[in-house]
Amino acid sequence: MINRYDIVVVGGGHAGCEAAAAAANLGSQVLLISMDLTKLAQMSCNPAIGGVGKGQIVREIDAIGGYTGKVTDLTTIHFRMLNTSKGAAMWSPRAQCDRMMFSVEWRKQLEKIDNLFLLQDEVIKLDISRNKVKGVFTKSGNYFETQAIVLTNGTFLNGLIHIGKTSFEGGRIGELPSKGLSDQLREIGFEVGRMKTGTPARIDGRSVDFSKLIEQKTDQKGKFSFNKEVKTLLNQKSCFIAHTNKYVHEELKKGFSDSPLFSGTIKGVGPRYCPSIEDKVHTFWQKESHQLFLEPDGDSTYEMYLNGFSSSLPIDIQTNALKLIEGFENVRILRPGYAIEYDYFQPTQLTHTLESKIVPYLYFAGQINGTTGYEEAAGQGIIAGINAHLKVHGKQELVIKRDVGYIGVMIDDLVTKGVDEPYRVFTSRAEFRILIRQDNADERFTPLGYSIGLVSEEEFSRFNHKYRKIVELTTLLTTLSVEPNDINPYLKSINSSMITQRKKLKDILLRPEISLKHMIVFNASLESKLIYIDEDEIIENAEIKIKYQGYIEKEKIFATKYDKFEHITINPEFDYSRFESLSTEARQKLSKIKPRTIGEAQRIPGVSPSDINVLLVYFGR
Ligand SMILES: Cc1cc2nc3c(=O)[nH]c(=O)nc-3n(C[C@H](O)[C@H](O)[C@H](O)COP(=O)(O)OP(=O)(O)OC[C@H]3O[C@@H](n4cnc5c(N)ncnc54)[C@H](O)[C@@H]3O)c2cc1C
Repeated sequence: MINRYDIVVVGGGHAGCEAAAAAANLGSQVLLISMDLTKLAQMSCNPAIGGVGKGQIVREIDAIGGYTGKVTDLTTIHFRMLNTSKGAAMWSPRAQCDRMMFSVEWRKQLEKIDNLFLLQDEVIKLDISRNKVKGVFTKSGNYFETQAIVLTNGTFLNGLIHIGKTSFEGGRIGELPSKGLSDQLREIGFEVGRMKTGTPARIDGRSVDFSKLIEQKTDQKGKFSFNKEVKTLLNQKSCFIAHTNKYVHEELKKGFSDSPLFSGTIKGVGPRYCPSIEDKVHTFWQKESHQLFLEPDGDSTYEMYLNGFSSSLPIDIQTNALKLIEGFENVRILRPGYAIEYDYFQPTQLTHTLESKIVPYLYFAGQINGTTGYEEAAGQGIIAGINAHLKVHGKQELVIKRDVGYIGVMIDDLVTKGVDEPYRVFTSRAEFRILIRQDNADERFTPLGYSIGLVSEEEFSRFNHKYRKIVELTTLLTTLSVEPNDINPYLKSINSSMITQRKKLKDILLRPEISLKHMIVFNASLESKLIYIDEDEIIENAEIKIKYQGYIEKEKIFATKYDKFEHITINPEFDYSRFESLSTEARQKLSKIKPRTIGEAQRIPGVSPSDINVLLVYFGR
């Protein structure tokens, strides 16, 4: 076995797979070590990718040359574009995947990469001497020399599982935890914390009476990858909506005294936005019902996932409560719901490239940075993998800015603000929402991917071709005028006021009720003029550009102003203690986080506008 690699990636979850694939595709010799190679990119919780904010991240990963979007498309069994009733900035793709196939497909993709090597083992110690990365030691007695390490251990570091009063060690149910690494890193000087997450019971779909539930059919179209050759294969299964009731809540309350959450057994902080069912019943005690989504787990299994019913109550309470839900009277549980506590590292210890500030060439990505979610993990993974490669090869590192993408927003939030609860991405975290939409992720990320060598010539020329067509279409729409006779039948059909004289198409398109695609299809004369525009993605992007032009321009101006402070650099090792005119809190935070620009300093909680003025006078001089 080769025992020297450019980069060793520890952990084959969503972060690790993206990191390893990116670094290897860029040309590094990469070893991906994971505890179980049959569980690569395992979906520990719900078998779904995307959603609000998360869907945008997956499209960004795809556009820069990652795999999560492609693997999702290849294993999709249900797709929906969320928030289509809201503005384009909020549209978010979400797909239900076949859980087993998702992992199998990821492995297939990784096995196609020449200089990526897989190994089933556990890394138990890092070889770091005088803050220099040298290699990793594994449980089987292997030692691998390396220049850079990417840690992506997920929920496995000192993982502790809870079901009622029962607690046992595990990284996920049925899997061992990873021990030793957190202690070593703590000794080196890293700040380590504890977080918690939970998951609902998986149930036997044959034991559910679907006639009592509300069916949610899949959208006919939609996918994540910008690559047209990636097709969705399994777009066919429905989801179902169910509801809890007061009897369910009464049953759940019987288990509260044995709840590890309420008894104080669980010390880690859980995801506020994804509370357990017992948390919801306890906090929103006046609510008589909570909505649940019953989601298929795969194409070839009857196992189903009950979204919204995450629980660590005793198993008999979980079963009895489930049986009181309409349609679930005869339910059978395949796997119990549980909670898990695990170690994470405060992400303020990292730079924007996800490299540790304490130990150079040591990168952290995914759940161990205090985030939650596959998409957040994958988004960090690809950036850590790219940067590990760039640094090892002495190239300029890649930092994604907040106005470029959700990945940039997330990483900037993590490294400047830190976390005190599991961090997940929301559209509300972004200040440039209309600039960083799901439809234009390729416009923002594909040129970046091409410039570093992760996007191929062929993909880049396809991208350029698409954007040429978008420019042609937007130009045509802004210049073309229509006669009342041409357009009024369409306007009448959708109850939009008719026009009395010739009008620019663009002005009609500004009306919120107008859909460009619908208008083209309805109107034969228009269709003939726009006939070469045959692709939905092009129509969607051009329409958004015209409809939201005013907002887009405003955000661009705001982004330029905002960017000014990102260019005023600060020496990260600057000694703030002698700055008497800074508040004590600002001095402490700036010394701890070591921002590299005034922009970063400005986003650190506790650093006030007057502190920034002091810094500006000094550094902006
Ligand atoms: C019970 C549970 C419930 C969850 N609920 C939600 C939820 O409701 N919503 C949500 O968004 N997310 C949820 N998640 C989180 C989601 O699963 C993670 O955010 C995501 O999987 C993180 O990806 P990752 O790559 O960081 O780590 P993981 O997916 O956890 O992967 C870590 C990988 O590293 C490997 N590994 C660990 N240590 C070592 C080592 N020392 N040596 C070698 N290999 C190692 C493991 O085998 C594993 O393959 C939940 C997770 C769990 C376990």
